Amino acid sequence: MEMITDDPATESAGFYWREHDGVRALICAPLEADGFTNAFSTRLGGVSPFPQDALNLAGFNEDEADNIYENRRRFLKLFEGDWTLAGCWQIHRADVRVVHDPQEAKPQPGVLGDDQYCDALVSSTPKILLAVKTADCVPILIGDPLTRAFAAVHAGWRGTSASIVRRAIEQMESEYGAHAANMRAAIGPAANVCCYEVGSEVIDVFKEFPQAEQLFKPTRDGHARIDLHLANRNQLLDAGFSADRIHVAPLCTMDRTDLFFSYRREKQLHGRVGRLMSVIGRRASQS
Ligand SMILES: [Zn+2]
Repeated sequence: MEMITDDPATESAGFYWREHDGVRALICAPLEADGFTNAFSTRLGGVSPFPQDALNLAGFNEDEADNIYENRRRFLKLFEGDWTLAGCWQIHRADVRVVHDPQEAKPQPGVLGDDQYCDALVSSTPKILLAVKTADCVPILIGDPLTRAFAAVHAGWRGTSASIVRRAIEQMESEYGAHAANMRAAIGPAANVCCYEVGSEVIDVFKEFPQAEQLFKPTRDGHARIDLHLANRNQLLDAGFSADRIHVAPLCTMDRTDLFFSYRREKQLHGRVGRLMSVIGRRASQS
């Protein structure tokens, strides 16, 4: 296992790169120090033809199941111990799923992908890695060191407009008695305000949000680039997070297609896009 710390911007934001046998992922160091195994995957070190050697971790309609399982096996080798992945069939809404035990984490027998519809997961059970899949959308990982509850959230513009990260926090509070003020969050690589242009149908939805004007950089008529990192950071602050416990990865999936899959950059070009995975779980014992 190699720890790469030659990237000052990423490091000062609270992240470092971990690499094993060519598989690379981004780790939030303070979240790890709080007792939470976590990672944001990259496209490096896999077996999928996207276009080659790509670590595609989901999307059974666009890749061979054997490729996805081999890529997941390689990805999980980045972490010590045995983990069960718990995901969901993501539908850009704001439903939150609670995962109580490893059995519940698994899809029904014979099902290739995930079979429960939701866009955020929460748990406090050891050996479960909650996983959300993205290719430009915003992945958010949350851990509460006091109750040891944790969450993984998929927030595209629709999920962000439905305040999905707040729904996940509320579920951690009601299910585990956690408090937002004690939690820590890592916001992962996503399509950022440097690249992600949207039209009036998206701009209109966010107009009602507090500080909405900060979220947009106007481009051509009826269009603007949107800052979903900031929108989600604002929602964490509104929920009661302290600013120093929110870590935002300074990486844009649309700029860095050498590292990440980007739906907007690759779908038209290649007809299909790989999926990144962002995972969080709690370590069984804390010494
Ligand atoms: Zn960009």
